Amino acid sequence: MLQQKGALEQVNSNRENENKENKNKENRQSRAADGVPICPAAGKCGSCVYQGIPYSEQLKKKQNQVKKLLKGMCPVRPMTGMEHPVHYRNKVHAVFDRKKDGTIISGVYARGSHRVVPVEECMIEDALSDAVIRDIRGLLKSFKIKIYNEDSGYGLFRHVLIRRGFASGQMLVVLVVSSPVFPSKNNFVKALLKLHPEITSIVLNINDRKTSMVLGDREIVLYGKGFIEDTLCGRIFRISPRSFYQVNPVQTEVLYRKAIELAALTGKERVIDAYCGIGTIGLSASSHAGEVLGVELNPDAVRDAIANARRNGVKNIYFYQNDAGEFMKEMAAEGERADVVFMDPPRAGSDEAFLSSLIRLSPERVVYISCNPETLARDMKYLVRHGYRAREAWPVDMFPWTDSIEAVVLLSR
Ligand code: SAH
Repeated sequence: MLQQKGALEQVNSNRENENKENKNKENRQSRAADGVPICPAAGKCGSCVYQGIPYSEQLKKKQNQVKKLLKGMCPVRPMTGMEHPVHYRNKVHAVFDRKKDGTIISGVYARGSHRVVPVEECMIEDALSDAVIRDIRGLLKSFKIKIYNEDSGYGLFRHVLIRRGFASGQMLVVLVVSSPVFPSKNNFVKALLKLHPEITSIVLNINDRKTSMVLGDREIVLYGKGFIEDTLCGRIFRISPRSFYQVNPVQTEVLYRKAIELAALTGKERVIDAYCGIGTIGLSASSHAGEVLGVELNPDAVRDAIANARRNGVKNIYFYQNDAGEFMKEMAAEGERADVVFMDPPRAGSDEAFLSSLIRLSPERVVYISCNPETLARDMKYLVRHGYRAREAWPVDMFPWTDSIEAVVLLSR
């Protein structure tokens, strides 16, 4: 009986702690929403440049920026913001360094430099991933693992990259090291799993180059499948360490549903999903289309895309590993046709080869998904000069507290 009472008291005190932590969290969230800068790394880390600006203001600023850039081309609909604009990032990266006194720190590079700003807890990153990173720091100390020094090239441990499936709960931890010789690798993995049984896979990535790229080319799976799976727009996707996956899955659903709605598919169309990554947009659209062709440069992403088609039983989709511009050129040269083209290029936007072949292919509709409104405006102007009309733009806030802007635009003949 006494023992039971003791256990009950323990449960109650755990609950109290949890409640207190939740209250603190809510308090921090509402202070952040009111525009109080709450992050100790604010002004140093360079990511959340909108710290100190109320969320509603941030949305207005971004909306105006899109309006300005797309002026005279098409109406810009109100930006869709997040209900809870915190801890939205499902991908967390930490760089490791050592202070002069030997203390191991982890965090982010200060903007435009290779100085590490320590981060304990970030308001936009997945909180559990941050906890894993803190615990890895502790393990590095107890396992006496040397931290890599960017100047001298000595040392082993460089970065941690964590991917989390918010829908699936799966967690992939990538340990980036300078050499495949990781002392007591198995015990390290065991100790990490003991602290965080929620981890579903651990991968060792070997990056021995003096480069600002986080991931190297070689991978050794230490535990689990070597990738995570997540559900997006009702489909299951596998995501490998080096494949692109949108970092804010809540807003990605809003964005992709809008993109598919703008495509106005009837079930007969031949669709191209250009810069398709792991096939998220094409696979989500496939049930509304006759046939989908996806093109992507990164071979890992294409492998994921093919597995994703199979996993979801989608039979009317084909993936090609190629430069998107090259692919479009070949399509146009062979007199192929397409009714709808989704294009979702990286920040640099598309190129002349892609856009000129797009004009030759002459799809009825082009749905342009962009993470950089400046290159979006540039590419839209090209398409407008060559016979397309921009119809409407829908900005979606994928990156609260940062100045990054995402939008989807419909153009048609
Ligand atoms: N549509 C996908 C990926 C968008 S990110 C999604 O929503 O998840 C942009 C993608 O373009 C990345 O996967 C990147 O690997 C790919 N990419 C970059 N340059 C490319 C090129 N020249 N040709 C084809 N794909 C390219």
